[in-house]
Amino acid sequence: MFDLATRDIKYLAGVGPQKATVLNKELEIFSLHDLIYYFPYKYVDRSRVYLIREIDGNMPYIQLKGQIVGFEDVGEGRHRRLMGHFSDGTGVVDLVWFQGIKYILGKYKLHEEYIVFGKPTVFNGRINLAHPDIEKPDELKLSTVGLQPYYNTTEKMKRSFLNSHAIEKMMTTVIGQLKEPLPETLSPRILADHHLMPLTEAIRNVHFPTNADVLRRAQYRLKFEELFYVQLNILRYAKDRQRKYRGYIFGKVGHYFNTFYAQNLPFQLTGAQKRVLKEIRGDVGSGRQMNRLLQGDVGSGKTLVALMSMLLALDNGYQACMMAPTEILANQHYETVRELLFGMDVRVELLTGSVKGKRREAILQGLLTGDVHILIGTHAVIEDTVNFSALGFVVIDEQHRFGVAQRARLWSKNVQPPHVLVMTATPIPRTLAMTLYGDLDVSVIDELPPGRKPITTIHQFDIHRESLYRSMHKQVAEGRQVYIVYPLIKESEKIDLKNLEEGYQHIVEEFPECQVCKVHGKMKAAEKEAQMQLFVSGQAQIMVATTVIEVGVNVPNASVMVIENAERFGLSQLHQLRGRVGRGAEQSYCILVTNYKLTEDTRKRLEIMVRTNDGFEIAEADLKLRGPGDLEGTQQSGVAFDLKIANIARDGQLLQYVRHIAEEVVDGDPTAELPENEILWKQLKALRKTNVNWAAIS
Ligand code: ADP
Ligand code: MG
Repeated sequence: MFDLATRDIKYLAGVGPQKATVLNKELEIFSLHDLIYYFPYKYVDRSRVYLIREIDGNMPYIQLKGQIVGFEDVGEGRHRRLMGHFSDGTGVVDLVWFQGIKYILGKYKLHEEYIVFGKPTVFNGRINLAHPDIEKPDELKLSTVGLQPYYNTTEKMKRSFLNSHAIEKMMTTVIGQLKEPLPETLSPRILADHHLMPLTEAIRNVHFPTNADVLRRAQYRLKFEELFYVQLNILRYAKDRQRKYRGYIFGKVGHYFNTFYAQNLPFQLTGAQKRVLKEIRGDVGSGRQMNRLLQGDVGSGKTLVALMSMLLALDNGYQACMMAPTEILANQHYETVRELLFGMDVRVELLTGSVKGKRREAILQGLLTGDVHILIGTHAVIEDTVNFSALGFVVIDEQHRFGVAQRARLWSKNVQPPHVLVMTATPIPRTLAMTLYGDLDVSVIDELPPGRKPITTIHQFDIHRESLYRSMHKQVAEGRQVYIVYPLIKESEKIDLKNLEEGYQHIVEEFPECQVCKVHGKMKAAEKEAQMQLFVSGQAQIMVATTVIEVGVNVPNASVMVIENAERFGLSQLHQLRGRVGRGAEQSYCILVTNYKLTEDTRKRLEIMVRTNDGFEIAEADLKLRGPGDLEGTQQSGVAFDLKIANIARDGQLLQYVRHIAEEVVDGDPTAELPENEILWKQLKALRKTNVNWAAIS
């Protein structure tokens, strides 16, 4: 049995050093093993002619034989398209063209026999083939090889004659050379229990499937394997850590918690808050170190849960610490917590970059002696100079700004790692949370405090600005405050800043009765803070800003959020921004301003925003529209997705399924010793060695 991983791609027939370099650089293909794990993105079936009544939206490219029975010109402007109704006597499909309409109409005749070739998809309940290839029936040549694979290639590759066909030829060579089976990567038991195709067969069939059914089974086996190892990796090391590190035991509910609950708590906890507190109490009483992700939509009352958990730590003789991503947020938490703890004998301190000199010294000293009970701050709290006498509980707010590495630094602040509660207001769909934060248990606050009025969201075209300003004047006259947000992205920074500047000038002129402040990411920190403060304190009625206000600021009196160029924001970003209003008793509004020209995707995004305030629904929709790579929160979390065949958005169900299997394996074999799992542990080790991203997950 030869090991493909040790065979350099440059020695493959027809490759050589120059093409090998291109493959290294463009696709990270170094060995024959890397090559066979480069999978086709589509398949073309020229082996037979299908009947229309046989086809569905899950098929690869197929060919049909029949006639165009009518043309129809639909839509306008950018949405204009030509439909050709195509029939073979067993049914009708729509051929669709978005470009070259005149050419098509001139070229193809009604009621003549054609061979049509394309990928069926379902749209509005009808099957259509977009931009199909059309040939005369006498040009029909049936291929005997089954489905033909197509591989993604880059411009650089094409310049080196590495097109899809060239890759296909390389695959033919390598797979033709496979005289013996590849070493299996799943255990015989898993293969048998879950009816999976053996590896060699799956690899052969994913590149050269004889029919669509075999292809599906090959893909399933490979996706299964990929997701299974992602989960096995997370679970294996999470459980390992659980065994290695004991958690501090908060056995009792004492004076601090009880006093707060009886005297200071200004309202009833929601059912969801109670449930999450119970989950946390279970964790911190168990002797295991807690790693819990608390998800809750903006305004759902996470801070209160965090505070009460911290009081539990205090009751058991430990200190607590809360970390926020920005100074403004840290300040706000500090103020909130002090207010909530009013009259109680708890010393709370604030530590940020701007706390210096004697003040800083005093805080650091107080942490060492244990006089400071709760420390609230920014990244400053994880610096090496900050040491505690008995840190037992850590809260991290707005998770996605902190990487995995920063989380790890907290662990060194005491003999054993403290319990960690990570809070995020960017709801992450469950499937994604499992992959990203598989080592964290997940709690969800899925209920807003009572009496909140749902925010009314309106989509408005920018030519209706007059009426928008009228309603803004009205809100301001009633004493409310207004945010106006502009997009700012790196690629178009200059233009964006100019738009913001013009927008600001314009607003100043239109609203002579108001003080208008302005905040953007390019400002110096101090200046930014000062402008924010104008708004927080209520001196300014209107804030014109870029997305810097995205995270956490709480101004309950702000009731209007205007988002300019809303088409340029992602869904979860829009939802985050909207969450800045609707925090007070008044009815709040979110106005999404766009121009007339919108893509289909944008239209969908705006529709979802107008329809729902539910962050989880929005996150799911976002995942479907954009794919997980772009999902907010994933880029900064230190985990890049490197899945070759599975797709988190589409294969969520399979992910959950394999998670259970991985759990069974780890629970049944916690020390990784059983002979029947030998293959699994060996493969996991090999994957961790070759894939840097994997190491980052755990
Ligand atoms: P987030 O989850 O966005 O961090 P916060 O903790 O800032 O939400 O809470 C938002 C607002 O709701 C705060 O003003 C807080 O005092 C209030 N709040 C929290 N819990 C409740 C509750 N059970 N009943 C009423 N109001 C609550
Ligand atoms: Mg918050």
